[in-house]
Amino acid sequence: MQGNLSAATGIACAATGVAPTAESLIAGVFRQLRPRTPIPEIRVEFRDFAGITSTVEWKGGVLRMQISDVLAQAPADVIEALGFILMGKMLKKPVAARFRDRYRRYLNRRDVVEAAEKTRRSRGRKQLQPAQGRHFDLKGLFEELNFRYFHGLMSRPELGWTPRESRTILGHYDPAHHAIVISRTLDRADVPKEVVAYVLYHEMLHLRYPVKRAAGRRCVHTEEFRKAEEMFEGFKGAERWIKRVFGGRDQ
Ligand SMILES: [Zn+2]
Repeated sequence: MQGNLSAATGIACAATGVAPTAESLIAGVFRQLRPRTPIPEIRVEFRDFAGITSTVEWKGGVLRMQISDVLAQAPADVIEALGFILMGKMLKKPVAARFRDRYRRYLNRRDVVEAAEKTRRSRGRKQLQPAQGRHFDLKGLFEELNFRYFHGLMSRPELGWTPRESRTILGHYDPAHHAIVISRTLDRADVPKEVVAYVLYHEMLHLRYPVKRAAGRRCVHTEEFRKAEEMFEGFKGAERWIKRVFGGRDQ
């Protein structure tokens, strides 16, 4: 998204009645940090980074700043503070504490935190295709498994198919979006329902048995996880089918 601060925020500059653009704000920062250097061409873009990363690059006479669009609604003084932080880093100049404070205070504001969270979640969801596939309905399968193996006690996470077919990763649980994603490659008539159920069951076990840390290592598939996995009715058959059709796999 090409960013224009005035369009995004509607902040009016008191003196002129015209909102300062992000470009003009950054030009002002540049002038203060490098008073004797002619101001380069400045391009500011608000990008849909998942987090709140922002970057600056000065190349071929163009100063290009990419700012997370989580900050698209930020007031001018926050964009300015970010400008001082990013350019201070780039020019290896110390950044005044007040700019760091101002920027951090803004990011910690409850409404900003919530907006960032919402953006992150909705972006995660975009990667998901609806739970109702062409051949299998993940919601229905989830409820069957929930009833059969978890006493119906597991609350349903987001469920969906991947947009593309992956043959190496058949399923994964994404804790950031609380979503179980199953590879589209399994949504076919020639895939036994029990295989899809087994892959989904495996991911459900990730909800049931969180990651453990032992001796500094993450243990995702603990011993109790593996034992629970073998409880799946038709475990061996499903494993064999997957091995025969896909070879090895990661989950
Ligand atoms: Zn796993």
